[in-house]
Amino acid sequence: MPLNIVVCVKNVPSTLAVPVDPATGLPKTAGLVFAMNPFDEYAVEEAVRIKEKTPGTTITAVALGPESDGAVLREAISRGCDAGVLLSGAELQGGDNFSVSRALAAAIQKLSAEKPVHLALFGKSTNDDNSGVVGGQVAAWLGWPGVLFVKKIESIDENSAVLCRMMEDGVDKLKVKLPAAVGTVKEINEPRVPSLKGKMAAKKAAIPTWTAADLGLKPEEAGAAGARVKVARSSAPPPRPAGTRIAGATPAQTAEKLVAALIERKLI
Ligand SMILES: Cc1cc2nc3c(=O)[nH]c(=O)nc-3n(C[C@H](O)[C@H](O)[C@H](O)COP(=O)(O)OP(=O)(O)OC[C@H]3O[C@@H](n4cnc5c(N)ncnc54)[C@H](O)[C@@H]3O)c2cc1C
Repeated sequence: MPLNIVVCVKNVPSTLAVPVDPATGLPKTAGLVFAMNPFDEYAVEEAVRIKEKTPGTTITAVALGPESDGAVLREAISRGCDAGVLLSGAELQGGDNFSVSRALAAAIQKLSAEKPVHLALFGKSTNDDNSGVVGGQVAAWLGWPGVLFVKKIESIDENSAVLCRMMEDGVDKLKVKLPAAVGTVKEINEPRVPSLKGKMAAKKAAIPTWTAADLGLKPEEAGAAGARVKVARSSAPPPRPAGTRIAGATPAQTAEKLVAALIERKLI
């Protein structure tokens, strides 16, 4: 039976070197180039692989962010998703992961009301805020099972999925009832590049925008008003001290000096 899959994708700065605005003490993202969070590419790819094995399956990408985040949804469609929904508007702005996950869960519920969603996929974490908790929180809001760090979806049908979850010292094999929220890791697959057909579909796709009101959220439940954690100040890491150059007359002497320097610093 065909499945109905949602993939949550976030638009993040393409660089890890995001400057901090000294005036506000918050990350200054104006003027930076944005792209799909790299870990979310694996979630999209996994959804597309499931669709290829289960014809008739549909994939909807969902992103919460400013109007410009429509671009990340077009990127998801160019990679094989069928549709995209943008969650945006003043009331959704400035949230923390509590209110962001609440809005994503409300969107999944709204999509489920049209056609039951079997699986919501997430990346491991984001390259910017990097909390790695949104997938688990969405599961909690929905009352669904949530499994994170999944490196393989061994099998899936409309009722259940067999998942391999990466642990520090091994792998857990789990059977989970659907619907479920699943966070993926980069070991799960090798994302493909967007196809020409996908790019054409992405160009033509109509991307609806859902506001907090469309999601049935009260103003106090969304965005900054619904947040439980406020970032008071961010600071850039201190500059790294200059390194030490180690060189000898021959490669053997260089290696000898390097070993001596590592022993001196108690590194070996
Ligand atoms: C200006 C600014 C102010 C902020 N202020 C605060 C604050 O005061 N307190 C606070 O706690 N946080 C704050 N944040 C962080 C922001 O709310 C986070 O983006 C949000 O909490 C998501 O967490 P994360 O990026 O760590 O997601 P993670 O938990 O690392 O993401 C896991 C997965 O969830 C999905 N996902 C995450 N975010 C989205 C999204 N937006 N759309 C679609 N899918 C998504 C993706 O699949 C992702 O791979 C601020 C961010 C900005 C830019």
